[in-house]
Amino acid sequence: MNVHEFQGKSLLKAYNVDIQEGFVAETPEQAVTVAHQLKEKFGSDFFVVKAQIHAGGRGKGGGVKLAKSIEEAGKIASQILGMQLITPQTGPEGKKVNRVLIAQDVYYKGETDPKEFYISILLNRDSGKYTFLYSPEGGMSIEEVAEKTPDRIFTEEIDPAIGLQAYQTRNIGFKLGLSGLAFKNMQTFLTGIYETFKSCDATLLEINPALKTSDNRVLAVDCKLVLDDNALYRQADLAGMRDFSEEDPVEVEAGKHNLNFVKLDGNVGCMVNGAGLAMATMDIIKLSGGSPANFLDVGGGANPKTVEAGFRIILKDPAVKAILINIFGGIVRCDRVANGVVEAYKSIGEIHVPVIVRLQGTNAEEAKKIIDNSGLAVFSASSFSDAAALVTKVLSQ
Ligand code: GDP
Ligand code: MN
Repeated sequence: MNVHEFQGKSLLKAYNVDIQEGFVAETPEQAVTVAHQLKEKFGSDFFVVKAQIHAGGRGKGGGVKLAKSIEEAGKIASQILGMQLITPQTGPEGKKVNRVLIAQDVYYKGETDPKEFYISILLNRDSGKYTFLYSPEGGMSIEEVAEKTPDRIFTEEIDPAIGLQAYQTRNIGFKLGLSGLAFKNMQTFLTGIYETFKSCDATLLEINPALKTSDNRVLAVDCKLVLDDNALYRQADLAGMRDFSEEDPVEVEAGKHNLNFVKLDGNVGCMVNGAGLAMATMDIIKLSGGSPANFLDVGGGANPKTVEAGFRIILKDPAVKAILINIFGGIVRCDRVANGVVEAYKSIGEIHVPVIVRLQGTNAEEAKKIIDNSGLAVFSASSFSDAAALVTKVLSQ
């Protein structure tokens, strides 16, 4: 799960990390009000208006703009709010901006040489550790740094069982070229972001840029925080930060039915129980000349309800030309699934694309009979190769 920059920053602040302060606004009027508040609370005269969408590269797309007065902050907010923001990470259709963060301009006091760093922590599944990935070249995309000056990217591995050690934060401070007060503030900063990362069960926390100001503060100017979905059950507060408007509506719908669904861009919808079988099914769709329109794992408990929900979700995609249902009856009995398919088919009404069903395992014979005798335009297949041949056949019709 992703959270917005303003939400990530509020968490950072709670863990003692110095941030570029700001308040969120949904209308230009609110933007003016919060700019007033920033002036009162932090003495800010200059502001930055930042689109809140779940994608980076907002600066490049025109979603981060400076304002030299409260009025200008309102004006810029009215331009950014409601816009379809296109960044290198949104895809060509862009993302609609529903909220902006009005923040203090921290490159203040005529900052002549703002020092921007890249600092991130990620869950390294290969090593089973946390990795600090950091670079003195901040502000630009880390991919760009990796391409142009890979020797300017450093890492520090943290063993979760031991935790972040002082020698490690010192090492990072030195490699970033800091000394004196800025070095000291960086130690607090690193400890704070590590605490945030750990306490939130994050898989990624990326601060780009972290800014060293001319008075040697170290601030989080941006924040990208990705939380581990599998840990959300123990992070009730954070789960409330989820912004459904940022997610694919079909995937949200699938989640409500406990279906594991990922939208793809092919023409054959598939419904399978088990992720491994789903991968194999996508392979046979490819082999038979089609391409999968989705990944859909209905899990262990395939029943009429989940089958119907799966059907409805797959049928929302106009690119779907055929549906392949591939269920292995282990715990779930094939005849029950077959009845589920027939019931779902009837309750949805007209299904305009051919449906191929392969049911194998417990009670497969009975299941095949149920499908064949249903009178519905459903093809039943026994083996993988039969199913593949049927996919090829229906696609060529
Ligand atoms: P991103 O483009 O989505 O990564 O958004 P960022 O929050 O990183 O902002 C983009 C860029 O805007 C940063 O790299 C900064 O250089 C610049 N920026 C952000 N906040 C300020 C600010 O307060 N003052 C100035 N002058 N520039 C800022
Ligand atoms: Mn950034």
